[in-house]
Formats: sequence, structure tokens, C-alpha cells
Amino acid sequence: MNPLDTLNNKPKTIVKRNGHLTAQENRVINFFSDATPLDWEDWRWQIRNRITKKEVLAKLIKLTPKEERGIDGSGTKLTMSIPPYFASLMDPLNPACPIRLQCVPQDDELTIAPEEMSDPCGEDKNSPVHGLVHRYPDRVLFLVNEMCAMYCRYCTRSRMVGDGKRTLSMETYNAAFEYIRSHKQIRDVLVSGGDPLTMSDRVLEHIIKTLKEIPHVEFVRIGTRIPVTLPQRVTTDLVNMLKRYSPIWMSIHFNHSKEITKRVKFACDLLADSGIPLGSQTVLLKGINDDPMVMKQLMHNLLKIRVRPYYIYQCDPIHGSKHFRTPVAAGIEIMEKLRGHTTGYAVPTYVIDGPGGGGKIPLGPNYVVSREKDHYLLRNFAGQQFKYYDPQ
Ligand SMILES: *Cc1c(COP(=O)(O)O)cnc(C)c1O
Ligand code: SF4
Repeated sequence: MNPLDTLNNKPKTIVKRNGHLTAQENRVINFFSDATPLDWEDWRWQIRNRITKKEVLAKLIKLTPKEERGIDGSGTKLTMSIPPYFASLMDPLNPACPIRLQCVPQDDELTIAPEEMSDPCGEDKNSPVHGLVHRYPDRVLFLVNEMCAMYCRYCTRSRMVGDGKRTLSMETYNAAFEYIRSHKQIRDVLVSGGDPLTMSDRVLEHIIKTLKEIPHVEFVRIGTRIPVTLPQRVTTDLVNMLKRYSPIWMSIHFNHSKEITKRVKFACDLLADSGIPLGSQTVLLKGINDDPMVMKQLMHNLLKIRVRPYYIYQCDPIHGSKHFRTPVAAGIEIMEKLRGHTTGYAVPTYVIDGPGGGGKIPLGPNYVVSREKDHYLLRNFAGQQFKYYDPQ
């Protein structure tokens, strides 16, 4: 079995959907001569035809000088790669489009600020064997590949992701399986990457099956951005396979309401209908979602497609990310404007990954006004104060 057989096999089924391509999708597909709506629905076509060159992108959107310089410099850092589907969501004329800001490099990313690091979460130093990060007592992060459909410009793992970077061998996987087998405290394995859903069903199944056969592994979770950047990948074959290994949890990286299209809803419906609980992970990004109303709308739209908001991450100080990072106060204000003001299910946890390897540290508004001898003085979401007598 070849862990890289991403592109080799023809898909057995292509999910058919009702209706036609949207106007924006049609605009993009027209740049690919001979491509049919069936090709558009084929995730391997989408991967093969990802936009990686400035000249191609320049035909789709009006590039700014900042973007041109960013693309020219990105090759040495994190390659540009945009599936045609995701490209169809970009505003061709507005450089401040939230989709565009996430996937088109800008020259700002070529500057490294003093506080920035290549591995801000300190993953490499908590890695007992290649591919595994064991930071918390009872669970591990398993980075099973280094390829994604689209490369997010603020990616915290830009040191390792990208096409043509390191590859993982079966021996590497076997060493990781052996580590998990011999550490009985591991009850939860988070399979991430890269993006595990860029791999073939066969390799993914091998990984999940092997993990589930370990008696102390209670469940597997998958961390992915594919349902957003390449929803065509969520085929009936894939969900039928995942269903066999229930319970499987899935965390999906969503950053803006504009990402929640009918096509994405269709993919999330397939997953949710198969009994996979869906959670979201959102990176707080300047100019993209740092407005409390934009964030609240995203949380509402996620609940509408059965995705439960899980985390909002402060943007990690990865190399070249200064233009994306907001003050911490912006994140706390967002939390303040969610809790109590809207459905509790729409309120995720805001965290900072402690730079250098501290793990997720939750932050939020302080609701304790003061702690007295026999009571707490608390405030609610509307600013009213209440005394709670604290039993001794
Ligand atoms: C985020 C993360 C996890 C999972 O954390 P949860 O809070 O359980 O979702 C596990 N390991 C590492 C290294 C992580 O970064
Ligand atoms: S999908 Fe995740 S791992 Fe891949 S580029 Fe985006 S943030 Fe990085």
C-alpha cells in the first residue's frame, strides 16, 4: 500500500447532486477547456487542476501588486494551491475578499517578525516518533500526511505542509501505531496532517482500522479542512467507510460564512447523516473574521449545517503571519458578544496555543467581579451583578 496513492485510483462513485453549477463555478470551469460538470464533481480532477501559478490565477482575479509579490515569494515558503471549486468563491475584483485573503499569498507573509517561530506550537519537541505529537496525557495528535487541498496562508504547520515536502512511509505509520499500542493511557487519537482527507479511502481506512483495533483507543477523530476547500471529496464511498468505524468525530476548519455554500452543506449533510458528530475550528484572522458580528454569523451558519462550534484559535505566531494576527482583546470581545447573546451551542472556546508547546489555553471575559469571604460577586452577559453565596 502506498500512502501517497492520492491521485492514482479513479473514484468509484461520484456524488451526483441536483441542479447545475453556480454562476461563479461556471465562470471558473470555463477556464479549463474540455472540463465537464462531472469533472468538477470529481475531487481528483479538482486536485489535479489546483491553481498554483500566478499566470493562471491572474486570469481569474485581478491581482494586486501585493499579491503578485506574495505569489512570487511563496514558492520557497508555503506553496500557493487553490482548488478550482474554492477559487470560484473568490471575489475577482475585491482584494479584501475573505476567501482570497486566506488562499492568495500577500507580500506581508515574506516578512518574519521577531516573535514568530517556525513551529509555534512546539509540536516537534513533543514528538516521540515521527508523525505523533503527545502533549496531553490521554490523547495524541497523529499527523498522517503533509498535503492539503488548499494551503492557508497563516498555516501553523507551514514548516511541514506543502506539495513535494517530506513523505510518510508505512514504516513511519507502523512506528506510530506501535507507540499508541504501548501507551495504554491513549484513549483518543486525533488524525490530522496536512489534511488526511487528501489521501485515498484505502489508506485512510487502513489508518482508522488499525487505530480502532487497539483496545484502549476509544475513538478516532479527524481534523480536516476538506469539506470546506474541496467538498467534492466527501463521497458516499468515503462516508460509508467512515460509518463502519463509528464513533468517529470530525473537526472541520471553517473561517467565514462565505465558505458555507450549498455544496458544503451537501457534504456536511452526508457526514452528519452518517452519524459523524461535526465540530468547527476557526482561526481568528484580521480582516477576515475579527468582527464580532461576522463571527456570530459564522457560528449561526455552522449550526444550520449541523456543525457545532468547538474552538476559536488565536492565530499562532507562525513565520509571516503578523498581518493576520489580532490583539487578544479582539478574541475576548468576540466571546463577550456571543455568550448569553446567542444560542449556547453557538459559543465555542477561545484558546491560545501556548507558544513553544503550552497546549491550548482558554481565554474569555471575566464574569467574577469579586470574591468575598462568603460569596462571589458575579456579572451576567448584560452587565447586571449577582451575589452567589459560596457554601463553606
Ligand atoms: C489540539 C490538540 C489536541 C486535541 O485537543 P482537544 O482539546 O482534546 O481537542 C491533542 N493534541 C495536540 C498536540 C493538540 O494540539
Ligand atoms: S488545511 Fe490546515 S494544515 Fe492545511 S494549510 Fe490549512 S491550516 Fe495548514
